[in-house]
Amino acid sequence: MNICSKTVLIALSLLGSAASAQALQVAPLSPRAQSLLSIRARTQQPQLNPSAPNGRQRCGYDEKRVTVYESAQGSQASDCNWNSTNPDEIYAPTFVYNVPVVVHVIQHTNGDGALSAATIQDQIDVLNEDFRAMQGSPGAPGVDVMIQYHLATVDPNGAPTTGITYSTNDAWHNDEWTTPGYWEVLQWDPQQYLNVYTLNTVGYYGYYWGSPGSIEDGVYLWWRYVGDNSSPTANNDNYGRTATHEIGHYMGLHHTFEGGCTSGGCYSTGDLICDTNPQESATWGCPSSQQSCSSQVPVRNYMNYTDDNCMWEFTEEQARRMRCRIQWYRPNLAETEPGCGVATTYCQTAPNSVGSGALIGHTGSLGIAANDLELSSSGAIPGQFGIFYFGPNQVSTPFGHGVRCVGGQIRRLTVLQSDSLGYASIPLDFTTAPENDITANSTWNFQFWYRDTAAAGPGFNLSNGLEISFCP
Ligand SMILES: [Zn+2]
Repeated sequence: MNICSKTVLIALSLLGSAASAQALQVAPLSPRAQSLLSIRARTQQPQLNPSAPNGRQRCGYDEKRVTVYESAQGSQASDCNWNSTNPDEIYAPTFVYNVPVVVHVIQHTNGDGALSAATIQDQIDVLNEDFRAMQGSPGAPGVDVMIQYHLATVDPNGAPTTGITYSTNDAWHNDEWTTPGYWEVLQWDPQQYLNVYTLNTVGYYGYYWGSPGSIEDGVYLWWRYVGDNSSPTANNDNYGRTATHEIGHYMGLHHTFEGGCTSGGCYSTGDLICDTNPQESATWGCPSSQQSCSSQVPVRNYMNYTDDNCMWEFTEEQARRMRCRIQWYRPNLAETEPGCGVATTYCQTAPNSVGSGALIGHTGSLGIAANDLELSSSGAIPGQFGIFYFGPNQVSTPFGHGVRCVGGQIRRLTVLQSDSLGYASIPLDFTTAPENDITANSTWNFQFWYRDTAAAGPGFNLSNGLEISFCP
């Protein structure tokens, strides 16, 4: 999208109707002037944090956000517009969205705002810990949203880049409304990059501003709270979660306390999410629990206002809303890849002498370090022997009464016996053979072979197949 059509998009954003936008085309305002109008028109009282240093508000989203017109990006864009959420299964995190990030570091001539590439990378690492709920990290208890971030390696002209731009400008650093605005000068195509600006976001730790593809579209962070406690201001709010929170807004989430104690459907009021209980107002500090609106407050949620070192989760429905937003509102932003931590069944099971056939499943972690994965099978013949086996390839070959789904060099696990319900399970141990062939970021295929002596002929059958891509 070129600058002209961006301007029109913002005009649409502000006026909310095509007819008004046409009138505006006659005498267009600059995007900056429109932005000023839209922000000054808002009168919502800022929420001050009595215990916060520097007297800053945690987030400027409520004051800065523009009431947006969003052109429909597809037939199901209404699944995650600003009126409601449809957390359909199709938005469940089953593959990775890989998002390229450009960080615009805006420095003051007095040296404020100087951030090293190492600190920027540190911040990217925190984002991945939080959005991927990475094991062993502070974000581990949350849902793996399967949105991953990396510094851009190619700039908008196709040239190699570090994904970081540096500029020195005192007015820009202090977030002043210059002409043109720094966001207009520095922004890379917002449809293809997540633009992050680090500066002195006066009054706030950070904010998200704009709508998908607009000239402001980006995340604005107070430079002192970038990275994991590595910049000069060490305290409970400096663990890189300002960026996690603001990118949550960028991906289409409201605060968990949006709308207070709302009544009505939780997918169409408040934060438009049902698995985050409503709350009357923001949570500060780090209470072990809190009650509001007759329910438990989502104290640990990234979209609340608790301290950085107190928050550790997005919920499943927040994950689905964010992924829906990428699919319908930011379709050119992310590369998709299968990613690790995915288990999918494939291949057909076959009927056996007791029913419609055996199905393979799993419980436990798909990470090697956790070492607690267990394979299971249900629907096999009660009291009969069977064996789980795995290999690198997928095949579909008639075998016995069923279909063989695993090919390549086969590894067999211990022989076992189904219980009286035809259920069998076996824990895997990645430290011993043959399971120690399974390493991080590798993909393997599993199946259950079992005896079925009551069936005439070969006397054995197989479950369907299970493909697992393993995480570290
Ligand atoms: Zn916020």
